[in-house]
Amino acid sequence: MKVVVFNVGPALSAYIELGNKRIVFDLGKSNDFSPVNDFLIPLFERREGKKDYYTIDQLFLSHPHRDHITDLNAMNERFHYTLYTTPNDLSEGEEKYKNVNWSLVDDPTSEEVKNVKEAYKGRCLPLRSCDPSRMTIGFIYPGWVENDETLKDESYTNNIGIVLYIHSGYRIFFAADIQKEGMKKLLEYNNEIKKKIGQGVDFLVCPHHGLRSSFSTALFDAMRNGKTKKLNIVSEKANDDDNRNVDSRYSSTDYCEGDNNMSSEDGIVCQRKTSQGHIFIDDDGTVMVEKDIAKIIDKF
Ligand SMILES: [Zn+2]
Ligand SMILES: [Zn+2]
Repeated sequence: MKVVVFNVGPALSAYIELGNKRIVFDLGKSNDFSPVNDFLIPLFERREGKKDYYTIDQLFLSHPHRDHITDLNAMNERFHYTLYTTPNDLSEGEEKYKNVNWSLVDDPTSEEVKNVKEAYKGRCLPLRSCDPSRMTIGFIYPGWVENDETLKDESYTNNIGIVLYIHSGYRIFFAADIQKEGMKKLLEYNNEIKKKIGQGVDFLVCPHHGLRSSFSTALFDAMRNGKTKKLNIVSEKANDDDNRNVDSRYSSTDYCEGDNNMSSEDGIVCQRKTSQGHIFIDDDGTVMVEKDIAKIIDKF
């Protein structure tokens, strides 16, 4: 498995190659970097020649917040997806199958959110993955998020998000923007995700951009040894508001063993931020933090 978590400013986007499967997890872009135009198209063009359309095996859009979907238009123009995975939108029957409630979603009139809303049509449970033996998808049913007393102070849009655990050589957990109480509920409701996390997390793509307000001790409690083994990855979204700062615990040895190629006698590295560069993880778990995307394309 090769993974790159892009430097897209205060947004999130990652690309994963798992054997012959090609997977995109979220599509945030920044003013000066587009995952689609600056990485995916050059990579696929180099491999397959110039084509109108390329195909990936699975596109995840964890939740309909703009910082996770702004590059979707560019993606739709040049890519087909075998699987397109977003929070559940099947309205029939039981409470738990209730629709995503678009009146609770932030920014529902923006072009990007409308795009995603269209894409939700026809989504139904269970959410499939392109490699079920190595990928585990987790989420809380939108109806449960909507009606849970403890979740009502957190963002509905964040907590209906999809998380993804992949195990192939190393173990990586994409925690999307699930917030503190949401993560507790997710682990309570979703035994499969809880079991996987219990088997260990080498790389954590930290929940909600590493913000202090979403640091989850329940998540670390559920992990083997109570900490990430290799690295906490923060897709930074800090600003002056104190509660929106990145949580310093991610860079502490209390929450990460720092078993990675960047740690040395001079210091143990527990956390890297995408604001320092695109974060690439090779098949053997070696990490590279690199500003020049061409050097990362060369790794694939
Ligand atoms: Zn976000
Ligand atoms: Zn969000």
